[in-house]
Amino acid sequence: MGLVHGAAGSGTEPAANREPPRMHAAPMPALTDEWERRVLDDPNLLGDIAFAIGGPFHLMYPERVARNIDGFRAAFERAGVDGVIYYGKKANKAACVARTCAQQGAGVDISSVGELTSALAQGVRGGELMVTGPAKSDDLLWLAIRHGALIAVDSLDELDRLATIATPAAHARVLLRVLPDASTSRFGMTAAELDAALSIIGSSGTVGHESIRLEGFSFHLSGYDAVARAEQADQLVDRCRDARTLGHPATTISIGGGFGVDYVSATTWAEFTDQLDSRWFHAGKSFDSYYPYHFPAPGPAMLTDILRHRGLAERLRDNDIRLAVEPGRALLDHAGCTVFRVRGSKTRHADGQPYHLVTVDGSSLSLSEQWFDSEYLPDPVLWPPRPGGTPAPTCVGAATCLESDMLSWRRIPLPRPAAVGDLLIYPNTAGYQMDSNESAFHDLPIPPKAVLHEAPGERWRWMLDAG
Ligand SMILES: *Cc1c(COP(=O)(O)O)cnc(C)c1O
Repeated sequence: MGLVHGAAGSGTEPAANREPPRMHAAPMPALTDEWERRVLDDPNLLGDIAFAIGGPFHLMYPERVARNIDGFRAAFERAGVDGVIYYGKKANKAACVARTCAQQGAGVDISSVGELTSALAQGVRGGELMVTGPAKSDDLLWLAIRHGALIAVDSLDELDRLATIATPAAHARVLLRVLPDASTSRFGMTAAELDAALSIIGSSGTVGHESIRLEGFSFHLSGYDAVARAEQADQLVDRCRDARTLGHPATTISIGGGFGVDYVSATTWAEFTDQLDSRWFHAGKSFDSYYPYHFPAPGPAMLTDILRHRGLAERLRDNDIRLAVEPGRALLDHAGCTVFRVRGSKTRHADGQPYHLVTVDGSSLSLSEQWFDSEYLPDPVLWPPRPGGTPAPTCVGAATCLESDMLSWRRIPLPRPAAVGDLLIYPNTAGYQMDSNESAFHDLPIPPKAVLHEAPGERWRWMLDAG
């Protein structure tokens, strides 16, 4: 999976020979888009939005979602493969993302009635929905049928329920979700279960066959390995061919999501992982693993690698199979950031060296990596920029009464000490960081999303997200 494991500082040499240990990390600047740099350089924009909202907020830039969709589409075109993109909606709830998918002709992958409703409300059509997730409710299955959505069936009992809801006049469009070989996933069906599923659906001329239309197979792997996905897809081509002999259309394979995102440069990441030391963290905190923040072939490039592996693209073409992808995080790459205001600052010491412990006006619920027992590592940016400061190692705590509610345990070398009223902008947070875990803890309001728009040659405009 490319996860990085934490090491503790050793400190075994005699004290006299020891250089003072470095108590803070090297900078870990996020790779930035041109729009992000312009927003950070704008003398007013961020301060004005922060003033209007009066609390932490997320900034969304849906234009970038459109570009990410184009990137995946271009990868399919270059490989000569008929492809379809479903945005994995759980990665960010913003209405502007679903709206952009509708405008760009991308579908949406949903798992609940709430997600289905909000995708439809933004103009995504029923036939452009993919319904995934385990043991879907009868209500969700019924609505999916009514709207002509594609349903990735996860288990035999779900298929049984679907068979009682679907009718020849209102048939269900189905993919069967496969449990990959040697996988311990709780999702998907084993080979024996897939055989049983085929007999529930029946073959041409049977009743089940008329109410359930088997359009293909799907899987979703954890981790970010292109080869594993290509090989699993290759096996599903055989499954499609077999299903066709029973009279099923079986023309779609969905390879799920898990397309990586490249947050920081290779050198930055190598330096962090080679030297990782728990002394860099407030209270000596350490984490078992981190997201692979440097990802050499992210998003569409990873799709290209998958399609190239052992001629997968050709096999799909030769067998008239449409390949579906369900990227969540990768469609949100560079599509948003999260803005907090500094409320206070203390000085603390570690091994005799001073550092700053800043408190911001929000919580780590808006930066979900903490709740996966890990840390979101790309450095927050201190705003406004001021020239000539002294570097200031800084940890970032939340405005809550929980000891563990820290946005950054890692001492981030900010270019100067943060002052009350400054903004701290966590970059590239649209994918999973923003809103997966937000709640009204402490009766604090949930941070709103401000959506940035820009007409050519004009200044930035923003509005609150409709979600
Ligand atoms: C979560 C999920 C996705 C999206 O995964 P990403 O890692 O965000 O690309 C796609 N498909 C299924 C079935 C999922 O559960």
